[in-house]
Amino acid sequence: MRVLLPVVASTATALALAALALLWAVGQSDTISMERQQRITERSIREVLGELAKQQEMVAVWNETVQQLNKTPLDEKWLDANIGGWLHITFGQDYTYILNTRNEPVDVTIDGARAKLNEYEKVRSSLQGLIQGLRGDSRSPHQGHSERPINGQDLTSGRAVHDAHLLELLGRPAAVSIMKIVPENNELRQEPGSEFLLVSVRFLDGNFLKILSQQNLIDGLRFSKANETSDSEVGVPLTSDEGALIGYFIWKPELPGTTILRVIGPSIAVVCILIIGVMALLSRSLRRSMAKLRKAIAELRASEAQAHHLAFHDALTGLPNRTLFDDRLDQTLSRIDHGQQLAVLMLDLDRFKHVNDTLGHQAGDCVVREFGSRLSALLRSSDSVARLGGDEFAVVLADIADRSDVEKICERILDTVRKPFEISGRQAFVGVSIGVALAPEAGSERIDLMRKADIALYQAKTEGRDAYRIFTAAMDENVKARSSIEEDLRAALLTGNDLRLFYQPQVDVDGQSIIGLEALVRWHHPTRGMIAPNQFIPIAEETGLISPLGEWVLRQACIASKRWPDLTIAVNLSPVQFRSGNLAQRLIGIVSEVGADPRRIEFEITESLLLDDSELSRSALKMLRQEGFKIALDDFGTGYSSLSYLRRFEVDKIKIDRSFVQHLGQQDEAVAIVKAIVTLCHAMGLTVTAEGVETEDQKLFLTETGCSEMQGFLFSRALPEDQIGDLLNNLGDRLSVQPAPQLRSIPGRVKAKIVA
Ligand code: C2E
Ligand code: CA
Ligand code: CA
Repeated sequence: MRVLLPVVASTATALALAALALLWAVGQSDTISMERQQRITERSIREVLGELAKQQEMVAVWNETVQQLNKTPLDEKWLDANIGGWLHITFGQDYTYILNTRNEPVDVTIDGARAKLNEYEKVRSSLQGLIQGLRGDSRSPHQGHSERPINGQDLTSGRAVHDAHLLELLGRPAAVSIMKIVPENNELRQEPGSEFLLVSVRFLDGNFLKILSQQNLIDGLRFSKANETSDSEVGVPLTSDEGALIGYFIWKPELPGTTILRVIGPSIAVVCILIIGVMALLSRSLRRSMAKLRKAIAELRASEAQAHHLAFHDALTGLPNRTLFDDRLDQTLSRIDHGQQLAVLMLDLDRFKHVNDTLGHQAGDCVVREFGSRLSALLRSSDSVARLGGDEFAVVLADIADRSDVEKICERILDTVRKPFEISGRQAFVGVSIGVALAPEAGSERIDLMRKADIALYQAKTEGRDAYRIFTAAMDENVKARSSIEEDLRAALLTGNDLRLFYQPQVDVDGQSIIGLEALVRWHHPTRGMIAPNQFIPIAEETGLISPLGEWVLRQACIASKRWPDLTIAVNLSPVQFRSGNLAQRLIGIVSEVGADPRRIEFEITESLLLDDSELSRSALKMLRQEGFKIALDDFGTGYSSLSYLRRFEVDKIKIDRSFVQHLGQQDEAVAIVKAIVTLCHAMGLTVTAEGVETEDQKLFLTETGCSEMQGFLFSRALPEDQIGDLLNNLGDRLSVQPAPQLRSIPGRVKAKIVA
């Protein structure tokens, strides 16, 4: 509108000014034209007087005329041919009279025809004054005329004596000129005072006006006694020399401006209407565009605000996102005064993947959303909570008094998460692990604090989840140690020099013989010494190194299996290895490369793999079994021990976990469980192996229960490959097992333990 108004206003003003200018020009040009016509008319009338005299002079200043008039009788024919008739024909003079010295008419011509002398009587009185004036004129002959209101130039020569007047004659406007008839030279004498007079009358109406009108293009020129003009006419008064009003010349003035206006007016009007129309259209469309623009701007603002919100908030929970969290943490840190404390909490849901996998992603979203609102409800307004992604959250607790404050809040968070999450009629249970870093104790930089809270979170996770840990320097050390282990393990895998495979025998107590060997990896670290698999396998799993490590183990085991073609070699597979899509193909490839027999290789998998119930692991296991490999379920009883998946996943063997075997004879519960497992496995046609058999009592109990395959220190520890040969050779087929606790921890003396 701010643009539109000036445009419309200036256009309207311009149009109005143009119209005014046009009207002014029209008026101006009309006035000029009118004045010009007026001048022409006036001049023409004036000229008539001068012209009359000049015409008269041609016959009045002439010796011949003087002589003719002195004849008696007069030569009427001559007079007609040279004076009255001639002046009418040649110059259009209306009336001519020739008067003698007594001012009596001697010749009268009316409209070119000779008339009776008494015709003069009609005009005698009107001309009396003029005639007397001329007769009594004592001045020199050529100066003989007075000033006249409408005066023509004196066109006569020096000899002519005349007088001319405008007057009303016979009720008509007329120019009258009276001239003395004198000789043209001195050859003929004429007594002064004895001159004849020539009177010429030219009426200014009728024919005169017609000619004037035609010559000067004056439309409708007429004479009227009264000033009775119509609207489009103008009148110019005509007065006699005495000042009496004779009448008016009236005509329709030429008005070129008006004419032009009449011609171009409609076009101009059309153009104006068009311009106004265009302006109206333009303003309408401009108004519409403005409205649209305003709407678009409003929408843009709204979407900008939305985009701004989206840029700083998490779409699922509406909580601040990582960017905003970083910003708030920075702000809180910058405000932190001396003596004040704040805590950064990193939270990660436990068993969240399980919820996602079993109840679907929507259920997972519900849990995340619900957790977000439960978390927010626990915190004060000065605290900040954010979702960093997935099931990860972060909290800043501003201005805390001491460590116990943080501990209380952490406990409350753990409590609130323990309550079931209702998802469309079903319940889901999750836990949460929390890592805490306190500022300024652990640092006062955002990145440092978040890293340390993450380390504490990792600690909470590895120490059994559903717990919180507050960062300590030792944790950092631990993390550093882990990362150096990772680095060293990577290097060790490149050469394979510091890695070795040990083999622990598996015995068939019924047949009293070694039937298989479990391959167990050993790492002799150049500086740290022997590192137990329980320490570096989790690191390898976290870093992805487990895949090359597992494949290295399999390759070594296959090579070894060729040395002992009668034994089954058991190889442990980590669930992490199954995450790569082509695990089965790779394992099959290694075995065939080495040229080992798949039927002699047994893969040990854990319950957690089956729990994940992924298509990937299911198809890999199926493929491996089809290839002839055996599958054993390791550490059975420690996980969820859901026997239902035993039906879904086909396995050949179950290995009862060491923890149950250890408690045999001590806990009735353990006995019951082992019995149940053995009975079930028999029913399903599965082989059962007991792990960690350390005592004769345990062996006895297991044998009685129906468990024939065993593995444990009672028979042998894991041994390096070169000692397995000895073990087999010295062992023979019979196993006469004696309890030999004093030898248990000495691998080198295994022979003594096994051999009777
Ligand atoms: P696991 O698969 O359950 O292996 C059996 C573990 O129990 C071995 O420990 C073995 O030395 C120990 N053991 C055997 N008999 C007895 C006994 O009578 N008493 C006691 N107290 N322990 C006994 P190790 O070699 O330290 O291995 C620990 C774990 O590391 C293994 O548990 C396995 O989960 C993992 N591991 C070892 N080597 C590999 C490997 O090559 N790949 C993978 N993925 N994991 C491996
Ligand atoms: Ca194992
Ligand atoms: Ca085991």
